[in-house]
Amino acid sequence: MSTNVAFQRCINPDCAAELDCGFAEGGFKCPKCGELLDTQYNWDKIKVPRKLSEFGKRWSTRNNSLDFSGVWRFRELLNFCEDKYKVTIGEGQTVLQQNDAVAKYVDMKPGCLFLQYEGLNPSGSFKDNGMTAAFSHASMIGAKSCVCASTGNTSASMALYAHSCGLKATVFIGSGRIAFGKLSQAMDYGSQTIQIAGDFDDCMRQVQDVCTKLGLYLLNSLNPFRLEGQKTIMYRIIEALNWELPDWIVVPGGNLGNSSAFGKAFSELKQLGLIKRIPRMAIINAAGADTLTELVNNRKLTWNNGRTNQKTIDDFYADLTARNFSPHTCASAIEISRPVNLKKCLRAIDVTNGVVRKVTDEEICDAKAVIGKHGLGCEPASAATIAGLRHLRTEGVISAGERVACVLTGHVLKDPGVTVNYHKEKQGEFSNPPIEAPNDINEIIKLIK
Ligand SMILES: *Cc1c(COP(=O)(O)O)cnc(C)c1O
Repeated sequence: MSTNVAFQRCINPDCAAELDCGFAEGGFKCPKCGELLDTQYNWDKIKVPRKLSEFGKRWSTRNNSLDFSGVWRFRELLNFCEDKYKVTIGEGQTVLQQNDAVAKYVDMKPGCLFLQYEGLNPSGSFKDNGMTAAFSHASMIGAKSCVCASTGNTSASMALYAHSCGLKATVFIGSGRIAFGKLSQAMDYGSQTIQIAGDFDDCMRQVQDVCTKLGLYLLNSLNPFRLEGQKTIMYRIIEALNWELPDWIVVPGGNLGNSSAFGKAFSELKQLGLIKRIPRMAIINAAGADTLTELVNNRKLTWNNGRTNQKTIDDFYADLTARNFSPHTCASAIEISRPVNLKKCLRAIDVTNGVVRKVTDEEICDAKAVIGKHGLGCEPASAATIAGLRHLRTEGVISAGERVACVLTGHVLKDPGVTVNYHKEKQGEFSNPPIEAPNDINEIIKLIK
């Protein structure tokens, strides 16, 4: 057992290889068995506050940039590097909005629905929570050049952070299916963008091989330090609820980094005695990219104490390959059919007594318009949470009076194409298209309601 404050450990209990935090080769796969790695801590060597509310005191010292950061304000809970290596650009200044109008849409009681709006991050998505942590790790180990595969937001966030700490950045994107707001960011923030003839899953495979061959630093959510940063989204929800727990967390599922990080956050808080119970989690897939739903709900795949049934996964993936399947959804951020964090996510489902659902693109777009009209605009993947919550309310899995926090993962301007089409092409019941008017004052006045 490592005696370091922080170390990495393989999630496979039959391997459980331990590595120090300096290890970053081969895209963060266990060098012994190829499984995912976790960041782990020897908590007795860390001065963790005895109560969560202690972290709130850092609001009064926010002229210190680490106290200002919504990630590093909780730094004892992700204590893998010294302060001098920490990279921050003001991430995590996000809000938890109680929203009764959206609550009504999902048939919840007033005061029960909360939207955790991660679109307020510097690059406009929750990914910045992870990047600040991963880039701190990269700077600690002296990385010079970094790379990611992306459906868009990872690249936007990576590009922004890379240049603020002087790393070269290369982004792999699939052809065609990337939202314009996101692509524009990667280019504008100066990263080299390589568009591969293939989908996200193809990019993900290529980027891992490139990392191994060229020794580049990987910033996908295979990077366990990125997930450490994403844990803080849960801390901020608890903070905004005045250090109380919600009953449910609802999150979209793509590469399953967020859901994995949230499960880890809660199990650590419980282990540390900082919370007494763990909220339940609902993970929402898009119907056109529903690997998790299929594996968990239909093929009964479980974490099983780390001894997940690999054959179930292999058979399903072989089936995808045989069908030449490529995922399709307007929620491009979750258009992923081979999620790299699948096993960590199964562990999170186990820890949180979680559920998985899928929603159609129509449901996503309607929910997105409702969120836009009544609260904080978000991108399609984020709206999957509200669409999924509606299912869970109809089924009675979640009751009207429970407290639910939905994570709105990205900003509405990330994907203007989906929004404009929904409204202008009158695609759904909440479409709000522009009204055409002649250039005539009287005619215009008649139109104004
Ligand atoms: C990356 C992303 C997701 C998917 O998150 P995972 O951690 O990969 O499951 C969802 N929504 C948005 C806006 C994203 O950028």
